[in-house]
Amino acid sequence: MAFKIGFAAEQPQEQLSATYTPPQQTATPRRSVVQVMFPNRGNRLAYYNDQFDLHPGDIVFVDGKLEGQRGRVVEVSYNFKIKVSDYRRVVAVADTDVHGQFYMAGSHFITFDPAVLPRGKVETWYMAPENPDEYISGCDDTGFLLEDLKGFQISEMVAERGRKYYLENRVAYLSIDGTSGYAIVEGGNPYEVEFAYKDGEISRLVCSCFCSYNCKHEVAVLMQLRETLTLIEKNYGSKYKAGGYFAAVSKSVLFSMAIDSKTTGSFTL
Ligand SMILES: [Zn+2]
Repeated sequence: MAFKIGFAAEQPQEQLSATYTPPQQTATPRRSVVQVMFPNRGNRLAYYNDQFDLHPGDIVFVDGKLEGQRGRVVEVSYNFKIKVSDYRRVVAVADTDVHGQFYMAGSHFITFDPAVLPRGKVETWYMAPENPDEYISGCDDTGFLLEDLKGFQISEMVAERGRKYYLENRVAYLSIDGTSGYAIVEGGNPYEVEFAYKDGEISRLVCSCFCSYNCKHEVAVLMQLRETLTLIEKNYGSKYKAGGYFAAVSKSVLFSMAIDSKTTGSFTL
């Protein structure tokens, strides 16, 4: 793993597309029984795996009672004989392979290269695969200025809770690709926030927590966006302008997902 954090001379780069293909579609599966640790529950359980080539440290999602909960593989056995009906299966593995250059911006690292940390890759860190047609969203086109959140209708209580989330760095990931914004907020569960951002104006703001009013996750994202854009403008304005893209990831999230489980590779600061 070549993982580089730092500042380098600007290199002319072809703009890459942020389209993402999960690696599990190409890797050859290797059957195993794996022990998975669920940090939220503090226990480990055995699962059968016939879809992936799993290794200790991999982040996985399973079916059964713990569906949707994130677990970490702590042990892999290739020699086994089990009664298949006794075991639930591993249904997804997070793609934690991250290569590229990041820049410092407060509590987050930023990349301006759409191929380094595309939304689709970070989604595999938080979301078990779901049937895409289970959800539908709707929104109107009324917007408000990011600089002046008075146009954003929220109660005092929601504003305070959102501010707390922002200060606790719960906005794990935030990206702007052209005019389309996306974020993942770590609450009790991870939630996805989507919005449009153009000329300082926010519109089409929706959150996957499905509450019918503006929520604390949205408040946290708006505050994080304001901070990140201020830092970008101050330090990396030309890089953002050049591609119209950035992705910001919380420092602790990048470390726990992309580095903690690796035992080889390099790191430059
Ligand atoms: Zn929400």
